[in-house]
Amino acid sequence: MPIASTMQDRPLLISGILEHGRRIYPDSRVITVGADGAVESTYAQVAARAAQLAHALRGVGVVEGDRVATFCWNHQAHLEAYLGVSAMGAVMHTLNIRLFPGQLAFCVNHAEDKVILIDASLIPLLGKVASELTTVEHVVVVGGDGECGPAALAPLEAIPGATIHRYEAFLEGHPSTYDWPELDERAAASMAYTSGTTGDPKGVVYSHRSTCLHALGICLGSVAALTERDRVLSVVPMFHANAWGLAYAAWWCGADHLLPGPFLQPEPLVRAIERHRPTVAGAVPSIWTGVLHYCSAQGADLSSFRLVLCGGSAVPESLMRRFEEELGVHIVQAWGMTETSPVGTVARAPRGVSEAESWSYRVSQGRVVQGVEMRVVADDGAALPWDGQSVGELEIRGPWVTGRYYRVEAPERFDDGWLRTGDVGTIDARGYVRITDRSKDVIKSGGEWISSVDLENALMGHPDVFEAAVIGVHDAKWEERPLACVVAAEGKEPTPASMRAFLSDKVARWWLPERWTFVDEIPKTSVGKFDKKLLRERYEAGALDVVEVATG
Ligand code: ADP
Repeated sequence: MPIASTMQDRPLLISGILEHGRRIYPDSRVITVGADGAVESTYAQVAARAAQLAHALRGVGVVEGDRVATFCWNHQAHLEAYLGVSAMGAVMHTLNIRLFPGQLAFCVNHAEDKVILIDASLIPLLGKVASELTTVEHVVVVGGDGECGPAALAPLEAIPGATIHRYEAFLEGHPSTYDWPELDERAAASMAYTSGTTGDPKGVVYSHRSTCLHALGICLGSVAALTERDRVLSVVPMFHANAWGLAYAAWWCGADHLLPGPFLQPEPLVRAIERHRPTVAGAVPSIWTGVLHYCSAQGADLSSFRLVLCGGSAVPESLMRRFEEELGVHIVQAWGMTETSPVGTVARAPRGVSEAESWSYRVSQGRVVQGVEMRVVADDGAALPWDGQSVGELEIRGPWVTGRYYRVEAPERFDDGWLRTGDVGTIDARGYVRITDRSKDVIKSGGEWISSVDLENALMGHPDVFEAAVIGVHDAKWEERPLACVVAAEGKEPTPASMRAFLSDKVARWWLPERWTFVDEIPKTSVGKFDKKLLRERYEAGALDVVEVATG
């Protein structure tokens, strides 16, 4: 006969995260990098302003469940929205500032955003679709007087029926505490749309509970091991998958936040790191590639880092090794999706392996974070063994994984309670996940799979290569063959022959690309990943200069 537990049933709420940080760590810092130096505030100040924001929003009629969007870089006001909007029961919708105009208008209208908080510098981007926005009643502009003149604000006037406010004036005069409502922990707290490489973007709505459990997951020793002694640099945008949960996790454990604003180029980023000495950071590989090349050329002190989290796309081994050898910085790879809050796996080596052996684990996508489960499934839907060999689609389920999309049916993305990730790979006996490709990027040559990810990683280990992406292109004999798109390192001229020789002991012989193209840069998606769809389109339109080497 089951018995009832005696435990209290307190909801997990973002107001709980906010209040804990405010009470326990009032002196921890939030530092925003600015054009004229950094702006530094305490948790006590930020919490007070989050409460003021909640009052101000209530004052213009925002009620529980209303969507309040942000269109901002990473900075203090954005963090205030992260905390205050959700804590009051509204739903914070982070808009990706790099979406195409059509997608941006789609996201605002589909989510039915009532308020948009926007950086003055980003008004021109929203301005392009202002007249198409159908639900927005208030726009609150973040920025100094210099940026908010009548001409700068003018594009917003095209939003039908919207009232324009300035952020500081919007907050002014409101009480600095708020009697946060006791919400249902399963209620919506925030939402984000996936970048939608195919079709319209799809919305994921996070609950208070999922956000809190994910934030606790980030704090774990096996993930980021955050404590109040840390200073966390979120380069990963707050408009992309909740900045990997770092904003909530860091606040909950009292770590300082270092927010880079729009200053994401290697030079200002490195200056900010040297000046503010963060201990932990998160960013996609392309950011760290830029930082590495800058540091190699200029020299820099990144010794404050104890951990750099990297993910969003596969992290090249050469990047990890060079960071360690040249800069003394330890990169840990993580895997995740907007749909998984995002962190799903983290690649730390298991105990008991040598330094040399540890690399084969560190270059994998890692093991699933406790609380979440993964499996690998064959085309016919059968679960495959964890043997490191059986390749199939990876599926994931858990309390911070979405179970559906917002107001759109997508049954093909789910499988008996599991989310289909669209990633193809293996899981080994110890639980290490290795992604060989996204299902839409796989290259099938003569019926066998070539991993574009493995080829790219091997190529990016070549000293003369800055970046490289590999796509599958039609081949009369093999159906598909890899085309290597290479960006040479500054002042270098790698040749197909030298790169094929370099690859020859790293990948199977039949994987070696015959087709090569040299480009100035690899196009990136709205979240900084290689845009292989665009590369394929360019190839098909004949816009790439392809060299084909004779083989055989
Ligand atoms: P988008 O679909 O627009 O790229 P997401 O940011 O949600 O949006 O991307 C999730 C995808 O990013 C994953 O399904 C996977 O393909 C890729 N990804 C994320 N982290 C890694 C990683 N460490 N290694 C390989 N791929 C990764």
